[in-house]
Amino acid sequence: MKCPPFEYHRATSVDDAVAALVAADDEGKILAGGQSLVPVLALRLARPAALVDVNRVPGLDELAVRDGVLRAGALVRHAALAGQTLHPLAAAAARYIGHAAIRSRGTVAGSLAHADPAAELPAVLRACDGAVHVAGPDGSRRVSADTLFRGALQTDLGDHEVITAVELPRPDAWGFAEFARRHGDFAVVSVAAARFGDRVRVVVGGVAGVPHLVTADAVDPGDVEGVAAAVADDVDPASDLHGSAAYRRALTRELTRRALGDLTGAASPAPVPEPA
Ligand SMILES: Cc1cc2nc3c(=O)[nH]c(=O)nc-3n(C[C@H](O)[C@H](O)[C@H](O)COP(=O)(O)OP(=O)(O)OC[C@H]3O[C@@H](n4cnc5c(N)ncnc54)[C@H](O)[C@@H]3O)c2cc1C
Repeated sequence: MKCPPFEYHRATSVDDAVAALVAADDEGKILAGGQSLVPVLALRLARPAALVDVNRVPGLDELAVRDGVLRAGALVRHAALAGQTLHPLAAAAARYIGHAAIRSRGTVAGSLAHADPAAELPAVLRACDGAVHVAGPDGSRRVSADTLFRGALQTDLGDHEVITAVELPRPDAWGFAEFARRHGDFAVVSVAAARFGDRVRVVVGGVAGVPHLVTADAVDPGDVEGVAAAVADDVDPASDLHGSAAYRRALTRELTRRALGDLTGAASPAPVPEPA
């Protein structure tokens, strides 16, 4: 289907984008890579009156580490994140996003604002205890990952707010594992694990409306199986056409085992369980 009609505004700055959203009342949407928004429009699942294109806004493609934190501008594409070496966990996760064409257009901020519960970057943001910087009519604010995600496709962002940058602290050790039915599909379940000092944050995607966080004391190689079992016990997935709740729980256990295996250096690959 074709998209419903909309006004198009090409923003020249963040302030201009915010002003255009305000002018559109509550009927405006930011257009970034378009890899989620355009299919939503084509399927007529949303009918925004105005699209505010931020692709030409200068200064939103920074990718740099300062004080152990990767700062990625809103327009950093998945492909750029996948190709960088400053934050290996983010790079590893970004390589699982869709296909090359999607990674070349889709943006870091777009993925976080869209907040698909199965998407890789929301899980990484939460595993790293990261945050987004947001500009709006009342100025700018910093929104932590724990606050940003409210539910499936729901965030704390206001209708007139624009994500300008993403902060991802660099973990001391990390692991990432996911299972999708076909190459390039959204994950059925994904697990991002990050160690900061003696604390480990394990985040499971695809088992709830928001990335599910479990924290643990430092995991040593001998504890991996036990922690993976505890994480699987902690999730409460629903059944859907991609897999039963029991299958998602089994995937959570195996993928956590793999991610923690990488994090602790105890990796021992085993087959991913078959669908129940
Ligand atoms: C076939 C296919 C397979 C895919 N597979 C995966 C996958 O495996 N994993 C995965 O994570 N994703 C996947 N995606 C989605 C892809 O990653 C998108 O790029 C991403 O979800 C949205 O980023 P975008 O830049 O394209 O945003 P857009 O589509 O332009 O926008 C998405 C939403 O975010 C809002 N938005 C965008 N930028 C901002 C901003 N700066 N501030 C505030 N709001 C903003 C928009 O208004 C809109 O509501 C897939 C997409 C397709 C089409």
